[in-house]
Amino acid sequence: MSLLKTDLELTKNSYYAATAPRRQRFPALEANIDADVAIVGGGLAGLSAAIELADRGYRVVVLEARQVGWGASGRNGGQAIAGGLRPLGGRVAARPRRCPPRLGHDHGSASPDRPAARAIRHRLRLAQRLPGPGRERAQGPRAACWHDQMQRDYGYETRWISPQEMQHWIASPRFHSGIHDPKSGHLHPLKYSLGLAAAAASLGVKIHEDSAVTAIQPGRVARLRTAQGSVSASHVLLAGNVYLQGIAPVLEARVMPVGTYIVTSEPIDAKLIESLIPSGSAVCDTNFVLDYFRPTVDHRMLYGGRVSYSTATPMNPAASMQRRMARSFPQLKNTKVEYAWGGFVDISMNRAPDFGRLSERLSGPERSDWANVYYLQGFSGHGLALTGLAGKLVAEAIAGDAERFDTFARIRHRPFPGGKLLRTPALVAGMAYYRLRDLL
Ligand SMILES: Cc1cc2nc3c(=O)[nH]c(=O)nc-3n(C[C@H](O)[C@H](O)[C@H](O)COP(=O)(O)OP(=O)(O)OC[C@H]3O[C@@H](n4cnc5c(N)ncnc54)[C@H](O)[C@@H]3O)c2cc1C
Repeated sequence: MSLLKTDLELTKNSYYAATAPRRQRFPALEANIDADVAIVGGGLAGLSAAIELADRGYRVVVLEARQVGWGASGRNGGQAIAGGLRPLGGRVAARPRRCPPRLGHDHGSASPDRPAARAIRHRLRLAQRLPGPGRERAQGPRAACWHDQMQRDYGYETRWISPQEMQHWIASPRFHSGIHDPKSGHLHPLKYSLGLAAAAASLGVKIHEDSAVTAIQPGRVARLRTAQGSVSASHVLLAGNVYLQGIAPVLEARVMPVGTYIVTSEPIDAKLIESLIPSGSAVCDTNFVLDYFRPTVDHRMLYGGRVSYSTATPMNPAASMQRRMARSFPQLKNTKVEYAWGGFVDISMNRAPDFGRLSERLSGPERSDWANVYYLQGFSGHGLALTGLAGKLVAEAIAGDAERFDTFARIRHRPFPGGKLLRTPALVAGMAYYRLRDLL
């Protein structure tokens, strides 16, 4: 089954879609227009970049194949993780060789009073109404190792939760100890995505939904074609996640679509859900294939996990996720699941984000024609907050200061072995090792 067909099925029963009505629609592109920057993809990466660029005075057009926030941005676990570094079994494996250690943690806006920053803050307030922000990584020695390493290598402070204290944080027999990360938090990602689209539009960004880009003609002024129109622009940004569908094949081999699934329970007694996670934090475990969960504002448990490396939907994900939820919280054994959905995460081989210019990925004389085509991908399941930083860095690069963008662009990425056809079996074999380690 094609990725797109599976994905359309996966969006049907989303809690986010049911609780964030789309009030603003953007017209399809039906003309040939000019812009300074044309952005492919109306997810958090594309929209964050659009806001940053509009704020710097650029004329920006966003072309979205479906609706803004339709992809991973409007369906994710809602865990906004400070920094873009991923612990792998106690190692921060994705630290770029030449990356100044703290760069991945710089989410602060250089000038917080700029209109874009104000608009984003306002939208964030709308999306994040929960008390007790913060995020916990729970479970044993790997958490301790992560805590020490973040402090030692990155100067990033988290709080250690000892086994004696654990019950005050999570009422679950599965967790032994953990850490609390006060700078991370959680929010409703579709509200956040729709909010960013509204903020971008208010800054003059032209957004066109139902406008899939079918081809790019490179050059000093590049031309992007859609079914009924085109955009000519001096800069292009590809922010299409795993959905680019052939417009930049060289990028597709560098990320792998991995399915992951989320359920939301029926509303639970307010006192019960508060007793399960008294701090109201978002939680994830330290397994390689991890479970992640959080309470919602309307007293439900939102629980994510499982992965699928083929593009087919697993059998009855709702039932298997309910079992996973009950394994962490036996108190919810008889609680019904009301919503179940999923999506694809764009993982890179080393799980570090993959940013760059298309010219850097091509060889031959024509590569210079693609020097003005930038891309952002490979968020590897950590994009909710990291896309904000990515948008800022690509806007800086387009505006002439590429130092911070290039720090990321220099990270070495290898394509998945086996090409598009054989990369799935190769990855499944590799993952078996990590799953076994999780079990042990
Ligand atoms: C189930 C799930 C749970 C997750 N949980 C978390 C979490 O808790 N915390 C976290 O930090 N991250 C999480 N993530 C990852 C996070 O959601 C992503 O990293 C982030 O949303 C990526 O944003 P994006 O803009 O790159 O991609 P997307 O939101 O997927 O946007 C890409 C957009 O580009 C459009 N597009 C593609 N090709 C074209 C084209 N040719 N023409 C026009 N438009 C095109 C698509 O239609 C799509 O809307 C999760 C992801 C999933 C799927």
